[in-house]
Amino acid sequence: MQPTWKEIYPWIKTALLNLESVDSLLRQVVEKIASVYEAECLLWAGLEMGVSDALRVYGLSEVVNKYAANFAVEPPLDSDRPSPFQPDSVQPFVPRSLPSWLLDQQNSPQIIQLETGELIIPISSRGNGLEDPRGRVSVANPLQFVLQLRRSFAGLPVFAPPSPLSSFPFRKETAALPIQGWNVEELESLEVVCSHVGLAYSALYWRERLEQSRQQAALIGRISRLLNSTLNPDEVVGRIVAELGYGLQCDRSILVDLRDSPATILAVWDYPERQMVALEERHIYREYWQNIIELFMQGGASYLQMGVHAPEADLLQDWMRSIGVMSVLLVPLFIQEEFFGAVALLSYQQERAYLLDELQTVRQVADQAAIALTNAQNYQRLWRRQVELRMQNDSLQQEILRDDLTQLMNRRSLEWELEQLSMAAVWTVQSPFSVIVCDIDYFKMVNDAYGHLVGDEVLVELSKRVQDQLRRGTPAYRYGGEEFVVILTETPLDQAIDVAERLRRAVRGQSMPTKAGELDITASFGVAQQNSATDRTAWDVLQRADKALYEAKRQGRDRVQVM
Ligand code: GH3
Ligand code: MG
Ligand code: MG
Repeated sequence: MQPTWKEIYPWIKTALLNLESVDSLLRQVVEKIASVYEAECLLWAGLEMGVSDALRVYGLSEVVNKYAANFAVEPPLDSDRPSPFQPDSVQPFVPRSLPSWLLDQQNSPQIIQLETGELIIPISSRGNGLEDPRGRVSVANPLQFVLQLRRSFAGLPVFAPPSPLSSFPFRKETAALPIQGWNVEELESLEVVCSHVGLAYSALYWRERLEQSRQQAALIGRISRLLNSTLNPDEVVGRIVAELGYGLQCDRSILVDLRDSPATILAVWDYPERQMVALEERHIYREYWQNIIELFMQGGASYLQMGVHAPEADLLQDWMRSIGVMSVLLVPLFIQEEFFGAVALLSYQQERAYLLDELQTVRQVADQAAIALTNAQNYQRLWRRQVELRMQNDSLQQEILRDDLTQLMNRRSLEWELEQLSMAAVWTVQSPFSVIVCDIDYFKMVNDAYGHLVGDEVLVELSKRVQDQLRRGTPAYRYGGEEFVVILTETPLDQAIDVAERLRRAVRGQSMPTKAGELDITASFGVAQQNSATDRTAWDVLQRADKALYEAKRQGRDRVQVM
């Protein structure tokens, strides 16, 4: 049987029109060449990238395994995902070391036959200017792939190499040697096939890149619309992180607030159904990030890629190891020119290098995320103003929001307010808030001695005194029967203590007029300030204020305690 290039050429032509990806082209080339030429076939791909982590060997696993002694091979990349291919079909393998002849090929590509009998055919796209992942146009390295063919040549005639066979010169010393096991027609047809595969590859490669750019443009568009949506800042930040992770197909994307120690993970998105250890711990030692922060703040770096095995030893690699990350892409985030933190795209399966336009996309999206966080800064104030308006308006909503007896805001409004305050985005960009909890001392005795109606009078009078002490727009909430809560936004602990003291004096300062006569009433107060390192939600802060209140009671009542 005499295989000719005519058998394979029409296939390549149709392949050019119908193929959906570079990957499927390479798989099919290997399959086709192996069957038409009746040879074991390996295809070394990704050489033009100039980075060893882009290298793949395409071949049937039985053939690859045969060569595994020469270069350590890892299983196919997608072995953990369901493959549409048969088990005996061609797969991409990851080589862990390179044969020396391949390095020679990278320096000077040429058709050679190894002493062990393999025919080596380099395939190149001269000067088509493929970019490497770091954005440089690789002119020095036009080599795209190398075909490694082997067939049993016992008994086959020996031919002298035809000349000129290829755009690549034969190596001088081998030029005189015969190519064993292959005839002239086969070699000529292989050369034609290879040059067409090279063209098909370039066409597909650029088509994929174009499609990628298109998707990235769409991503930016979606994110701009997101920013103009009515979603709350927490949802916006969450969605941005998700869009970014999905758009760039990383395993996990996170947003880290690096301003304080410890650093805080604000938002996390995981690629659906990829197996990763959950990120339970939202706080990270800031020390891990020290060098990175300096690079971003002083060095003005606009992004940073780091592999866990990269030679530049950095503390961040300790963190990466601790959570099992192979590589990370970091993009700094500035809010109104103040350094805020970084968007981090994490790869768990393998080290990943991003293409230049992917980096640009991440940059743009990070800028949008900064706008979202700036909005978050204003969001709380806006919400407060709405509350203030609602408090003044006599509307139906008043009934839902206010307590019938005391006319203070009710428990439901408090829960709503705590909900708003718990949003991570708002949480991190705003100065801390404080919470005061108040409980009337020995109130049961009032009820027992004078009856519930008198007790109610006390509740109304006390509520009035408390609310009168607060600024307009700072509501007091009736939290339980005779328990009250005040939330002081953007207020540090010492100021909150002052307010609580003022409330305490307002309660005990004058006797309260009731139907049963004047009653001396006191109340106890617990105060706590939000601590973003230890509190997860506003409820945590309330809980600490409650503990402080308990302590105030224990120490004798009519006092302010802090927790
Ligand atoms: P302590 O100093 O430890 O707080 O003592 P206390 O007597 O105030 O104890 P506690 O806070 O447990 O008692 C709450 C009492 O408040 C029990 C309940 O009868 C009364 N109470 C709750 N809601 C109302 C209400 O709407 N009206 C009246 N009159 N009393 C209420
Ligand atoms: Mg109570
Ligand atoms: Mg009480």
